Order: sequence, then structure tokens, then C-alpha cells
Amino acid sequence: MDLLNTLVDKGLRRELPTREEALAVLATSDDDLLDVVAAAGKVRRHWFGRRVKLNYLVNLKSGLCPEDCSYCSQRLGSKADILKYTWLKPDEASQAAAAGLAGGAKRVCLVASGRGPTDRDVDRVSQTIKAIKEQNEGVEVCACLGLLSDGQAERLREAGADAYNHNLNTSEGTYGDITTTHTYADRVDTVQKAHAAGLSACSGLIAGMGETDEDLVDVVFSLRELDPDSVPVNFLIPFEGTPLAKEWNLTPQRCLRILAMVRFVCPDVEVRIAGGREVHLRTMQPLALHLANSIFLGDYLTSEGQAGKADLEMIADAGFEVEGADQVTLPEHRAGTAGACGSHAEAGCGSHEGAGCGSHAEAGCGSHEGGGVCGTAAVPAAGEPRTDLVAVRRRGAGTDLAPNA
Ligand code: SF4
Repeated sequence: MDLLNTLVDKGLRRELPTREEALAVLATSDDDLLDVVAAAGKVRRHWFGRRVKLNYLVNLKSGLCPEDCSYCSQRLGSKADILKYTWLKPDEASQAAAAGLAGGAKRVCLVASGRGPTDRDVDRVSQTIKAIKEQNEGVEVCACLGLLSDGQAERLREAGADAYNHNLNTSEGTYGDITTTHTYADRVDTVQKAHAAGLSACSGLIAGMGETDEDLVDVVFSLRELDPDSVPVNFLIPFEGTPLAKEWNLTPQRCLRILAMVRFVCPDVEVRIAGGREVHLRTMQPLALHLANSIFLGDYLTSEGQAGKADLEMIADAGFEVEGADQVTLPEHRAGTAGACGSHAEAGCGSHEGAGCGSHAEAGCGSHEGGGVCGTAAVPAAGEPRTDLVAVRRRGAGTDLAPNA
């Protein structure tokens, strides 16, 4: 396909595709899907080889947020039955981080619910960053604490933070439909503050909130302009008890097209599959590794991901390798700029949801409703809500149970 040849050439040269080309990727048919993945995969391998960076989320403070982001299970008025707790102590956070690092992660993403940190919160998180860095040599730390005030990014940088995450989430045109308590411009401002303080900027999106293809292209083009080192791509987990609970409109094929489009528009940037990987890509997750070069290991902020061991097996089976602590994530022309890491958190403020499965109820013999044959559990039709794959996190940070890593 001429379109794909053009996009590969542009991706290898870091040249921006046209909006029409990006839209055309989203409009490709299922018959062309493997060609799209193969083409974007060439760009991915050119800049990142077969490495997969693993990141580990630690939710420092969960729920009870005064903001009203419609997609978020921690929002004001959320009825989602998530864990709610206030700030973890530095040692507790460090312990949770250590589990992720032992599982193969090289970056820890410290996330807290809320509009943004107070100066006291920045002190707390600074102590946590120091504790994690003292106890885990070489670890990358990204903070995701919401909107930053003047001077706070610099203080986090001084405390040892490598990166800061704040997602744009959706297009400027639709931002007001998703959140009313802060603006798109507020979000852009925080990403710029992080950049200016020498932190590696991480900013991404959430797909599946009812947006159009144009909205998706808008937000990804805006991200390219902001030039973060990493772009987390979340797929909405429609939590029961949130306004977007009924927005089940993603298919695995759609998710792959979105990831391919992001790769073509941001070819040399760490593209991370964030929340919703297990719920929406499901058995197609390995194909997505040909597009993204980074994922989260284990659980998300308020929902459970597949077992950490399953993540590692998937990477190995798909012919990829976990990126080691001694390997540099970003291509040479990017490494060394701003913090040198390049992947501030995923499902961070702005996309604090992210759920996985971990609760694949397996119907076996004895659940023959619908006239199913023994051994053939009913599989929901394409496009059907998969609430069966959404499990609220009940382990790890904020609980007495061991984390999934
Ligand atoms: S995304 Fe962040 S700011 Fe928005 S409701 Fe959730 S926790 Fe609060």
C-alpha cells in the first residue's frame, strides 16, 4: 500500500505525516490490519529494536479526588468500589516499588490522585523518591501528581525525579466534555513546566471515550508538538460508577490501528501501552508489542492487570526482550535530553484508571447456559461490554496483600 510505504519512510526520517495520512491509518480495514502492524513495526524496530521497557505503577494516594474527569474511577462522586487511601509512607512506597523492580521493571511511576500537589505533598513525594533511589540503584522514577505550580517541577527534579507524567488525554476541542474542573491549557502548561525543569516529559492519551478519529489525530499531533519523550496510550476502562461506564466501543483491531497511528506520528518516542491493555486488546496483546516499545508490568492504579509472569511470558513468546537497566530506552538523539528516561507514567493523573483483567472468570462444565457445549464457554460477541475483564485492584499498595509483579 502506498500509504504504508510513505509512512514507513517518514517514520524512519522522523518526518511528520500529514493529518490525512494519520486519519487514513485509522480508517484501514481489518483485511489490511496485519500490513499496518508490519509497517509500523518497521518504524518501532528501527528506533527501539525488539526491546520492551517495563514500568511499574505505585499508587501513592488513591481515590477521593475533587476533580471530575469522567473516565476516572477516583473522580469526585465516583461510585466505583475502588481502594481509597491517603499518602503511602516512603518505606511503604519503596517496598511496593521494589516488587516491581524485582519483576523486571526499570521505571517506577509514583502517582497520586488529586488536582495537583501542595508544597507539603511535594516534600512527601521527594522523601519517597529519595528512599526508592537509595534502596534501588539505577532505578528511574517518574512522578505523576497532577497540575504543577511554579517551582514544584524543579523541586521534584532536585529530589531525584527523572520524569513527570501528565496526559493530554483527548483533543482540545472535546476536553470540556470530559472534564470541567480544569482545562486542556492547564494540562499543556504542566507538561511544559516539567520540560522546562529538565524532567523527561511524558504525556499521552485515552482512547475510547467516544471521540472521533479527528479528535484522536488532533491529540496525537498536539503531543508531537509538545515533544514528550514518552507517550502512554490508555484504552478507556469503563468503570461501573463513572459517567463513561457504558462507553464500550473499542475492539482489539481499533486499538492496534490507534497504536500504529501514534507510532507513525511519534516514531522515535517511547510509546507505552497503558491502562486497558488486557481489557481491550485481550488475546491480541502480543501484536501490539510490534507497535509500542513499553508497557506496565502487573497492576494499574485502581484495577488489576494480568499476572506479571504472564506479561514476561508474552514478551518472550512474541520474540521481544525486556529492556535491561543498563540499556538506554531512547534513540541517541533523544537520550541525554531532559532526564534521559523518557517515559513518565502512564495511567497517571489524567488517566488514573487503567485496569486489567486478572479475573477471567472461566466458565467450565456446569455453566451451560445458552445451550453451550461442555468445554466451550460462551465468548461475548465483538463489541460487547467486557465487564468480566475488569477487576478492581485489591492487592499491593494500600493493602496487606502482596503486589502483582
Ligand atoms: S484523573 Fe487525576 S485529577 Fe482527574 S479525577 Fe482522576 S485522580 Fe482526579
